[in-house]
Amino acid sequence: MTKDSRREYQKYNMPDEKGYFGTYGGKFVPELLMPALSELESAYRVANRDPRFTSEFNYYLNEFVGRPTRLTFAERLTNHYRRAQIWLKREDLCHTGAHKINNAVGQVLLAQRMNKKRIIAETGAGQHGVAVATACARFGLECIVYMGSEDMERQKLNVERMKLLGAKVRPVESGSRTLKDATNEAIRDWVTHVESTFYVIGSVVGPHPYPMMVRNFQTVIGQETKRQLEEKNLGTPDILVASVGGGSNAIGFFYPFIEERQVRMIGVEASGLGLQSGKTAATLTLGRPGVLHGTRSYLLQDGEGQVKLAHSVSAGLDYPGVGPEHAWLYDQKRAEYVSVTDEEALKAVELLSRKEGIIPALESAHALAWLETLMPQTVENQIVVLNLSGRGDKDMRTIAEHLDRESRGADRI
Ligand SMILES: *Cc1c(COP(=O)(O)O)cnc(C)c1O
Repeated sequence: MTKDSRREYQKYNMPDEKGYFGTYGGKFVPELLMPALSELESAYRVANRDPRFTSEFNYYLNEFVGRPTRLTFAERLTNHYRRAQIWLKREDLCHTGAHKINNAVGQVLLAQRMNKKRIIAETGAGQHGVAVATACARFGLECIVYMGSEDMERQKLNVERMKLLGAKVRPVESGSRTLKDATNEAIRDWVTHVESTFYVIGSVVGPHPYPMMVRNFQTVIGQETKRQLEEKNLGTPDILVASVGGGSNAIGFFYPFIEERQVRMIGVEASGLGLQSGKTAATLTLGRPGVLHGTRSYLLQDGEGQVKLAHSVSAGLDYPGVGPEHAWLYDQKRAEYVSVTDEEALKAVELLSRKEGIIPALESAHALAWLETLMPQTVENQIVVLNLSGRGDKDMRTIAEHLDRESRGADRI
């Protein structure tokens, strides 16, 4: 790092000591949880400075998660667009098939260090639940996952996975019986068992210190990308593209490049059935600031400030909020946020499968779909790096149903 870039870097000192990224973030939780958050924050700060913790984390990232993941040149996709070079950061190659395991391992190691033997989590689609159950199995910790009964019905395979890994899946029957209600149950559990229990959150959301901590565990994605670009003599990338649900894969990928102003960073949200349809998850594009699950950020809400249900074909992007750091980067215009529809994402799944022999997760396919708009704006010697956050095996049923519908539609013509 040059002296100038170090000074730049120190300017970006986020969040502040109260957990704010500008006016976003903070700790909006019941009084009873404040001591637990303070305990977590100080334990994390000590661990983060302890080289033994870092080397332990790196050890499991290598040996268990399978890092570093590849930075693959997408040759046929590049030829398809005939503009900038497209490189894929292959988080789909992580153990369990997505980036979520990076954070799950980090938090479970921290729990162990804090001598908390009981791990709780909430999950919607089950991907975060599976990542946490996997890490808990590896370290022999008790694992309880709250999941809406409606979601359990829709995501049977992930429920079976968690059970096989030894986790207890607790059905939540209240409210809409989905993620929001499971989150409330998990918080209730945490309040009652604060002494023994560590609450693992799956994205850069929730009260401080979670957005900071999860970001830091995921920055391995961006750090590796930076090193791999150097090793391949590709230098500084021109454009980074990633999907944004809560925002953890995107921020982990962007973070090491934030001070390099010439790098364009693009986060792709899910607009579901379309921005005007009312059935979307495009939080930054359509939302307004508000408080949800302990943090202040952009939120999808109605005229009365009630949180709206999000919709996306991709379960991992189906969340009405977004991490506070993204809200800040959005206001600062340091990162750009755009959206693509369910349809566009499904087309991108097919394109990558056919061109590169890689079946992407529906979440990652949202980033891929934006290439349709982005690539014509690029020129040949530029470098675009796309974070392929996960593999698509889990989405095969949705993808197959879509292809089936399409081919029946084609028959009628
Ligand atoms: C959960 C998930 C996402 C969205 O979560 P972020 O916190 O925004 O990264 C994206 N891709 C995959 C494969 C996921 O499983």
